[in-house]
Amino acid sequence: MITVEHLTRRYGSYVAVDDVSFEVRPGSVTGFLGPNGAGKSTCMRMICGLTPPSGGVARVLGGSYTDLPNPGRQVGVLLDAAAQHNGRTGREILSLGAILMGLPKSRVDEMLHLVGLNGDESKRRLRDYSLGMRQRLGIAHALLGDPKVLILDEPANGLDPAGIRWMRTLLRGFADEGGTVLLSSHLLHEIEVVADHFIVIGRGKIVANGPKSQLMAAAGTSVRSTDDMRLAGALQGAGFAVDGVGGAIRTDAEPAQVGRIALDQQIALIELKAAGSAGLEEMFLQLTAADAREGVAA
Ligand code: ADP
Repeated sequence: MITVEHLTRRYGSYVAVDDVSFEVRPGSVTGFLGPNGAGKSTCMRMICGLTPPSGGVARVLGGSYTDLPNPGRQVGVLLDAAAQHNGRTGREILSLGAILMGLPKSRVDEMLHLVGLNGDESKRRLRDYSLGMRQRLGIAHALLGDPKVLILDEPANGLDPAGIRWMRTLLRGFADEGGTVLLSSHLLHEIEVVADHFIVIGRGKIVANGPKSQLMAAAGTSVRSTDDMRLAGALQGAGFAVDGVGGAIRTDAEPAQVGRIALDQQIALIELKAAGSAGLEEMFLQLTAADAREGVAA
């Protein structure tokens, strides 16, 4: 369990994280979504005690991360896959972690096998690793101590599609066994399959927080018909919001309501479906559009 209450971080007069509160529950993968510069990393760094908050508190497993005895055995953290000594081999990095956490050497081989780094790769120095290999090693390091909580900042960055699929399976399995996962990304499609709960952040503030199913339903319905203009008018006339997306109408009406209105108007439907992930993506873009600050992102 991760609990964040009124967490705030200022840099001078600039508010990077602004009064943020949320919970991340066991047995779930929570996607922490937001454009670059939204405040995801700063939040995660505060949760892990690496950046002191200007206000509010973050608790992991009921207390402050910095008060956890042998934290690696309880919380696996991957904040920056490049934040390891470049001259060490992957195996050395994991071996050092195992010694610090008091783990048997065999755990290193188990983790290398789990993340798919073979014998040769594990003996290469980190400076010769691709970003994807660094991410795999970072995930191995986070899992080394068999923690109950995982905090991963943009772990899909640099992974190829097969790597992303592998990571999804791994995280889903971890959560299904009762683990708690907080997983950040600036791209919905990278995490939408694995996450069952989303927290959306824009300009340091939480703009949406809920189960995926609820957010999917809020994303509305997508419909195409033989007379989109007239259908759009009828939907608006019935009090629903209407938006044109990619050649189809998107509306906040439910599919059954759209079908009923089309029938009343004698308009033939070509396609009628829940807007699903395209709708969710659109919704996230709208929620964070006014808040995006890519131009000034670190
Ligand atoms: P995200 O992880 O969502 O991309 P960050 O948490 O890295 O966003 O950054 C949020 C904002 O805080 C950005 O505008 C960034 O430039 C600013 N920021 C982060 N760290 C510092 C710092 N040490 N000093 C000043 N500004 C910072």
